[in-house]
Order: sequence, then structure tokens, then C-alpha cells
Amino acid sequence: MIKKHDILISKFIGNTPLRHCDALSTRYHTNIFIKEEFHNLGMSAKDRPALFMMEDAIARKKIKPGGIFVEASSGNTGLGITLIAKKLGYLAKIFVSQSCSKEKIDLLIKAGADIEICENSNGLHDFNSTQFRAQSFASMHPNAYFTNQYYNTQNIRAHYKTTGPEIWEQTDGDITHFIAGVGTGGTISGVGRFLKEQHTDINVWGIEPSGSILGHFVKHRTLPTSIVPFDPIEGIGRNFIPGSFDADYVDHIFQVNCQETKRVAKEYYNQTGIRVGFSSAAVMASLDSYIDRMDFAPTDTVVLFFPDHGDRYISKLYNDNIRRPHTSSNMTTF
Ligand code: PMP
Repeated sequence: MIKKHDILISKFIGNTPLRHCDALSTRYHTNIFIKEEFHNLGMSAKDRPALFMMEDAIARKKIKPGGIFVEASSGNTGLGITLIAKKLGYLAKIFVSQSCSKEKIDLLIKAGADIEICENSNGLHDFNSTQFRAQSFASMHPNAYFTNQYYNTQNIRAHYKTTGPEIWEQTDGDITHFIAGVGTGGTISGVGRFLKEQHTDINVWGIEPSGSILGHFVKHRTLPTSIVPFDPIEGIGRNFIPGSFDADYVDHIFQVNCQETKRVAKEYYNQTGIRVGFSSAAVMASLDSYIDRMDFAPTDTVVLFFPDHGDRYISKLYNDNIRRPHTSSNMTTF
């Protein structure tokens, strides 16, 4: 018998394209490929962990048919959960932080999510966080299940079982560098583990916003003495160490700032007409800022992970490219 999971995973989630990027390869004198995750069902990489976490909960009978999947999300995991819930006959309650883009909120509402906007996503110890509020909601509703991507082992497993093997096959095992933004840590930990099991020399590099603490943790295995707010690059950065982040499979984390990320996104759009997502632009910005340290060889195969699409961030990244219609008040008079 074909399980619903198999139909979804093979048809709509995973098996995304890996494309050679001529513009970046020429610019940085190496072979740069982009793993385009906006081809998934909910148009982001987070459909993968969403599906794994939900199937696991269903298999372990943690939720009954018609029950409510609950998640704390910067938007993408929430959208994946909402769309999959609809297909499998469940409901979705999503707690998003106020930094979530207007476009993602609209998509969540249109997909049928019941959403609540919270002050921050600072983790379970903060009463105003998406995580705390999601956990409280789930504990008060008998047929609700909190997927808890920050601590759910299925988050890493989804990328270990699907994203990592796809990239390995698509590069014919030639990959030398994997570079991805880090939020919950699921992507880099799962892909990193898979790739390093194939070849320990593959460089696994994370990208986080300035002020985030994951890079410090990778380097020192301790928390920094002071924790400051990190730059608001949607989807990446943390001020606690999630259980779904496994520093053992990450070689280094580079920091980029928000302004530089926005600049790179706009520049790339103006040059190519392609709108990349916010955290994808952060990955590109890291090349601009650290190319000397990255020291790519012309024969290297570098895979950049693009978790979603720029259409989700028009209001944040590309708004000054929008031409306003002429009205009597802004028309130039000669
Ligand atoms: N980029 C975007 C746009 C995301 O939504 C996320 C997930 N929060 C990430 C990057 C980081 O991925 P991960 O949670 O697997 O570290």
C-alpha cells in the first residue's frame, strides 16, 4: 500500500533542482551551484522537516485525525505544516514572531492556518516567545501536538535523509563546500552529517546574522558572556542553542549584517532579474565579505543553499524597485 507520505515526498516535497550559477561562478572564479528549495510544495526547504515531524507524530499516535498541529515558526515551517495538515486532514495553529514578513503572514492565512503573532522567538524560557506560546497552547488542547522544530530530531533527520543525499547525487560526489543559513540548525546539521559521512574533507559552513551566537558556540563550545539582539535577517540567527543544531558537523559559521544582505539582494536583482530570499541573500553576502578567507579553487564545487524565494520578501528587500503609478501628487509638472 502506498502511504500518503510517499506520495507527498516524491511528488511535492524534495528532489529540488541544483543549478549551476554562471553569474556567481564567474564572479568568484569557482563552480557555484544553487540548491533551489522554492520548488517544494510550500515553496521552502522547511516542508521537508514539516513532513517528517508530522508523519512521526501520526505514526506514534501523538495526534488523532482532525487534530491540531502547533508550531513556532518564522513562517516557512508554519506554511509547510499548514499545507500538509490540509492534505492529511488536520488543522494548523502557527505562532509567528512580529518580524515575519507580510507576504508570509498572507500566505499562512490563505493556506488556512490559525495564526498568532508573538513578540519574539527567543525560546521556551521567554513568556512572549513563539515557542513558549506554542507549547502552552498545545498543553491546553488535548488533541493538539507541538512539532517543536527547535528540539525535534526529525528536523535534522529530514535533511539527513533527503537534502544531503540529493546534493551528493546531484554533484556526483564532487561537492567541496556546502554553505547554508542557520536558524534551527536542522539543515546544516542534517546535510552536514550526511556529507561528512561521505567525505570528511567537505567544508560545511553556516551563515548567521551579526549578533547571533551559533558561530561562537561552534568555535568555543560555550555561550558568549553577553547575548545581544541579532540582526533581523528572517529565518536565520539564534540567541540560544537549539537541540536541532549539531555543531559537530559544522566547520565554521560566518556572520553577515542585515544592511549588507539587503544591498547584495538588490544588486543581484538589478543584475540578473532574480529575486532571492532574505537568508539566501545572506549566503551570497557572505561570499562578498569573506571571499579571501573562503579561498575557493577554480576546481571546487560549491553548493549554496537557497531555502526560499524573494517573492516572500518584496516588502522588505525589493520595495524600492516597485514603480508607483503616477498620480497628480507625484507627477512631475513641466
Ligand atoms: N532560511 C529561511 C528562509 C528559513 O525559513 C529558515 C528556517 N527558519 C532557515 C533559513 C534556517 O534553516 P534551519 O532552520 O534548518 O537552520
